[in-house]
Amino acid sequence: MADIIQLLPDHVANQIAAGEVVQRPASVVKELLENAIDAGATSIKLIIKDAGKTLVQVIDNGKGMSVTDARLSFERHATSKIKTADDLFKLNTKGFRGEALASIAAIAHVELKTKQDHEDVGTCIVIEGSTVISQEVAVTPKGTSISVKNLFFNIPARRNFLKSNTVETRHIIDEFHRVALAHPNISFVMFHNGSETFNLPESNYRQRIVNIFGIKTNEKLVPVNEDTEVLQISGFVGKPEFAKKTRGEQFFFVNNRFIKSAYLNHAIGSAFEGLLKDGAHASYFLNLTVNPQTIDINIHPTKTEIKFDDEHTLYAILRSSVKHSLGQFNIAPVLDFERDANLDTPYSYQQKGTPSIEVDSNFNPFREDQQASNIATSYRKPTAASWEGLYVGLESKGTQTQQDFSEVHFESNSKNESFFDNDNQVEQKQSTYQFHNKYIVSTIKSGLLLIDQHRAHQRILYENFLKNMTIKEAMSQQLLFPLALHFSPQEIEIINQLKTDLEHAGFIFQAIKDELVEISGVPVSVPESEVSIILEQLISDVENEVPDSNFSATDLLAKSLAKSLAIKTGQSLTILEQEHLVNSLFACKEPNVSPTNKATFITMTVDALDRKFV
Ligand code: ADP
Ligand code: MG
Repeated sequence: MADIIQLLPDHVANQIAAGEVVQRPASVVKELLENAIDAGATSIKLIIKDAGKTLVQVIDNGKGMSVTDARLSFERHATSKIKTADDLFKLNTKGFRGEALASIAAIAHVELKTKQDHEDVGTCIVIEGSTVISQEVAVTPKGTSISVKNLFFNIPARRNFLKSNTVETRHIIDEFHRVALAHPNISFVMFHNGSETFNLPESNYRQRIVNIFGIKTNEKLVPVNEDTEVLQISGFVGKPEFAKKTRGEQFFFVNNRFIKSAYLNHAIGSAFEGLLKDGAHASYFLNLTVNPQTIDINIHPTKTEIKFDDEHTLYAILRSSVKHSLGQFNIAPVLDFERDANLDTPYSYQQKGTPSIEVDSNFNPFREDQQASNIATSYRKPTAASWEGLYVGLESKGTQTQQDFSEVHFESNSKNESFFDNDNQVEQKQSTYQFHNKYIVSTIKSGLLLIDQHRAHQRILYENFLKNMTIKEAMSQQLLFPLALHFSPQEIEIINQLKTDLEHAGFIFQAIKDELVEISGVPVSVPESEVSIILEQLISDVENEVPDSNFSATDLLAKSLAKSLAIKTGQSLTILEQEHLVNSLFACKEPNVSPTNKATFITMTVDALDRKFV
């Protein structure tokens, strides 16, 4: 039989490699920026059109390429950065695979112009889908300019897979931030659709952070510096009181390369222990310098993961130096980080002697329950009535879930089946019960009803917000003193986009300035203390919006507000609150799913339960 294995033609191999290297326009941005840095540029310009879908261009003033190199740079595995495998362990460049340009040229229209300092003229090469269209002598300044147009022009599936411009731009800006933060000594400019979005002059690290994230960041930064044999740390952590609820500004750089590490992130988290509000994340901008021989970055093509030889030591050093800084700057209550935290005993346990027990002889464990069910009874009548509202409208709809739901017959509607003849006995039964501070249990004729409190409340709030926003009659509560909240310029842009919808939801804006939002009124249901968290959450929701969810700003806003304001898992509810929640849920148009389409409740029939008992 004939041999069937053959080598793939180069352009096919390149296209396959591109699948790994280039996932979206932001990947191109990353690769081109890194090449410019490797070329020793001191000034780099990034130009983007339509979130990079139409154009990504990077212009640098680096060392440029010779005529031959310019042509070779598009070959796969062509690199000037390593020569032997040993070099992999001494890397001080960003690139080393020699894959990026070949991959990009396989799936886009690329034009390269480059000139070395000592040459009079440079080279211009045009490549489209791995095919060289032209190579000519060109007059061009020292350095390199690479423009990448119509990304994925020959892979429509990929192109269609790209997310909305907001999302893709967000990814590009993330990459830009990472590179710009790692190199404060290089000046960066970024243009998007013709307007300048960033202008970052050469500066020190603190100034670079401030130039990117806004002037207000300055007062939030606590310096961290540590110099040990295995690891040097420099950079900043954010003061705990400014910690955000969304993971935003978290940057680790190892030898000037941005990396992600859940493990090291945990080290920071543990240094902040006890200092952060629930659910808040510390921000940090930390540069770690280690001996290149002790790391392996060759794990992942996009190179944000890294393997350290001795992670445990790094963890310990990182944790203690962040703790130290927080302590030094009078932020952490505990200064003594030499001591092993495991040896710390809670204060109350330190008193020696036998614990004493006090007994309340009048305590009747049943009394409270009885009171509780009295409250329930007094609230019972309207409850039963509104539960009947459940059935209204249900018959007309016929989706699967709703059919399940129509099997729900409430016990209170069929008292004759009760064990007791006396109506009052039935009335006194508590109709809801909360368990694990997460679910609300209620009985229905056919069995049990289990409601997820967080999701149910989201549904209720969501429908409410939607209604208010559509009729544009939301109730606002005026604040005694306007709230002044600080945001980065990008965040302000998003708030501006959503302004009208936010106003319909009940927000009143006094001013939206460069980095400041002044709010003089908020929706009635929104506590003043939560406003900044809610807006932060909203911004991050908008940034991560998925295009195939039929996106409308109003809908997204309602969802986000509902998510932020809904009672959380873990919150204990009074019986009244539980009943109110159940009633309001079933008064909703679509009670069976949360705004993100997850089940709000499940039912368990007596039959099903019986089967479990056989
Ligand atoms: P790698 O960066 O992994 O070496 P690339 O495909 O990104 O691979 O680039 C291939 C080669 O092209 C680089 O090794 C470098 O020699 C050259 N090159 C790419 N971009 C530039 C640039 N902006 N300035 C100078 N040389 C460049
Ligand atoms: Mg490269």
